[in-house]
Amino acid sequence: MEKLIIGNHVSFKKDTQFKGSVLEELSYGGNAFMFYTGAPQNTARAEIIDSLTLEGMQIMKENGMDLRNVIVHAPYIINPANTANLDFSINFLRQEIDRVEKLGVTKLVLHPGSHVNLGEEVAIHNIINTLNACILSDTKVIVCLETMAGKGSEMGKTFKELKQIIDGVTYKEKVMVCLDTCHLNDAGYDLTKFDEILEEFDKVIGIEKIGCVHINDSKNDKGAHKDRHENFGLGTIGFDTLINIIYNDKLKDVPKILETPYIGETDDSKNRLFPPYKFEIEMIRNKKFNPNLLEDIRNYYK
Ligand code: FE
Ligand code: FE
Ligand code: ZN
Repeated sequence: MEKLIIGNHVSFKKDTQFKGSVLEELSYGGNAFMFYTGAPQNTARAEIIDSLTLEGMQIMKENGMDLRNVIVHAPYIINPANTANLDFSINFLRQEIDRVEKLGVTKLVLHPGSHVNLGEEVAIHNIINTLNACILSDTKVIVCLETMAGKGSEMGKTFKELKQIIDGVTYKEKVMVCLDTCHLNDAGYDLTKFDEILEEFDKVIGIEKIGCVHINDSKNDKGAHKDRHENFGLGTIGFDTLINIIYNDKLKDVPKILETPYIGETDDSKNRLFPPYKFEIEMIRNKKFNPNLLEDIRNYYK
């Protein structure tokens, strides 16, 4: 049987780094993972410690995990669509690409950004310029542009926009797309017709360009342009639709990454938050909804 490539967002801590990320994923039972190299909302980044990277790789090997299924997410303060901080965006993205390559990771997910008040045409031009300033002939990492919900002036809410961006990039073979199920739903795509979505993607961009899939349920209705993630099976997309996407044969070689919210000790608790991934991955592997998901998570970690 084909091996399901499933995992989730993990932390990358200053002192345990890549090794810590691998061990965290193993505690959830996944075989893929994604992390920020530091806090997503700032640019403070620790020097990569090679010995921790190597130890992490060794643990991956012992557990049958493939480095191709590891993803780094660029910090969302980078806004390639707007010129206000374009020099900053370019500088930071260059450094981030170097860090990712030093880690041996092959894919970097990037939000196309928000145009704020520049308009979509200018935004696409800016994104292309940023990418061309960072993706060079010797760049090894593949930048995966994420599909966005279209909140505010977010770019990348349609396949057509992503295609326009890719068309302007010099080294197109180093750009792919990350599908985010919550974002697709909030952007207005009907995920119950996922085969049609893939057909459209194939026509507009090419199905071989899907480099990563973010698996999230949504707190909002289709087309709401909101972007609030919900736990697996508890949102407006629902269990069956998400399972159908995960097990789609055309995506079998693509890493699927959960970015679902942590669970509070009680419904209104923000004190202690527990990762949902171990139990969500279990539901996904069993293809069976767990009606006690939240209680099981709280009981396990308390
Ligand atoms: Fe993202
Ligand atoms: Fe995402
Ligand atoms: Zn999101």
